Amino acid sequence: MTFAASALADLESLLVDGGSVVVAESELVRHGEDFSIHPARRPDAVVLPASTREVAAVIALAAREGVPVVPFGAGTSLEGHVIPVAGGISLDLTRLDRILELRPSDLTATVQAGVTRRQLDAAARRHGLQFPVDPGADATLGGMAATNASGTTTVRYGGMRRQVLALEAVLGDAQVVRTGSRAAKSSAGYDITSLLVGSEGTLAVITELTVRLHPVEESGATVRAAFPDIAAACAAAVDVVAGGVLVTRLELLDAWNVAAVNSYSGAALPERPLLLIDITGAPAAVDENLAAVADIVGDHGAADVVLERDDATRRALWRTRHDAAYAVMATAPGKKPRSTDICVPVSELPAAITAAREAVDALGLDAGIGGHVADGNFHVAFMLDPGDEGEVDRARKLDGLLVDDALARGGTCSGEHGIGIGKRAYLAREHPDLIPLYRKLKGVFDPHGILNPGKVLP
Ligand SMILES: Cc1cc2nc3c(=O)[nH]c(=O)nc-3n(C[C@H](O)[C@H](O)[C@H](O)COP(=O)(O)OP(=O)(O)OC[C@H]3O[C@@H](n4cnc5c(N)ncnc54)[C@H](O)[C@@H]3O)c2cc1C
Repeated sequence: MTFAASALADLESLLVDGGSVVVAESELVRHGEDFSIHPARRPDAVVLPASTREVAAVIALAAREGVPVVPFGAGTSLEGHVIPVAGGISLDLTRLDRILELRPSDLTATVQAGVTRRQLDAAARRHGLQFPVDPGADATLGGMAATNASGTTTVRYGGMRRQVLALEAVLGDAQVVRTGSRAAKSSAGYDITSLLVGSEGTLAVITELTVRLHPVEESGATVRAAFPDIAAACAAAVDVVAGGVLVTRLELLDAWNVAAVNSYSGAALPERPLLLIDITGAPAAVDENLAAVADIVGDHGAADVVLERDDATRRALWRTRHDAAYAVMATAPGKKPRSTDICVPVSELPAAITAAREAVDALGLDAGIGGHVADGNFHVAFMLDPGDEGEVDRARKLDGLLVDDALARGGTCSGEHGIGIGKRAYLAREHPDLIPLYRKLKGVFDPHGILNPGKVLP
């Protein structure tokens, strides 16, 4: 059911703390599409609440009227997550943008859901601290929690689920709940915090988060190693992880990706499979881990190994890596980016990447492979014309092949992007026995079925 015009006035009357309702065409369009190939669908209204009280009031009204509510952070998710497939309200949380409290002694911060990761990281750095979870986009912390996002530093610090200690959230019946605590650990009751992390706006709207912060490391260095082939690069990555070498980042870019980032960022990286390895800590520990890494990459035939200790140069190198997704997009303007997201136990990585390359070649796709290989998470990235049925069909076949391969290796269909619309069938393939339980949970948290319908559950 969509929103009746008369209900818009009711909605506006609920926004007593400065929130607003927007029905401007450009905003409806912006809130009805994403980077994915899933068809766009405009919401009936975009609501920008300015307080938890307003979020709860909007949800109460939506529950009464049976109107869908789709939480919206920065809109950078990649699987149709924010597309309001059944119309209704796009609930844009970006006005909840305050850092409520930063507690250096506890290494925690409490923020509203619309604060972005860079905003929090910048504030933390003023205290010698950092917020390390760094997806390629400057996403909101609410959206990052809702997708259990991760990034280049996950091998060291963990992804969002490890960072979130407590939440304030509004359930689908408008009840405001507080989960977790500010303590570093807790054995008190069911872990609702962890359940809401990764729930993609289908169980609750997150309004506030308490997250961990981490000290900025004393010193660091980055190794850039070029390998004769991708299998050798992967084998080296596995040995670094299995050898217990303390790395802060360990990323793979294949030659296709390196060519894309060179062209986009004006870098001059060797166009061969590359590992970028960041090591941070006390100077003596950094040196020890650097020596271990040098041995391992040498054993796997890395010929072109560059050690960078200058902070500005390291930052530039990691910026280039962070821009890799945008570099891929720049290879075919007008098309849509597509990025697979499987994750396997790290020992399976070389075989999984070899199988992925074979699948890409067999399907005749022009694609690169790269990713957070220390976590066993890699992306096959390419550009796609959603109007070209042949291309879409080949992309779907690739998804299916990679997911089957990952599951056979004990892995998962999504390491970090989440399920959204696009991976619902794969979730059912991965956890067929859990789907009935998921449905029951959905009914408990969202009894009226209004929260982000058409997502996650097949
Ligand atoms: C260039 C690029 C690079 C990327 N790299 C990475 C990467 O390295 N790692 C990674 O994990 N992801 C990556 N992503 C994907 C994306 O950035 C993440 O999924 C991010 O966590 C989404 O956050 P957002 O604020 O944009 O959320 P949105 O896209 O707005 O929303 C995502 C989902 O969360 C829900 N949601 C949003 N806010 C809330 C809330 N407050 N309460 C409840 N539900 C909410 C939405 O309904 C939706 O289902 C990348 C995306 C791009 C475009």
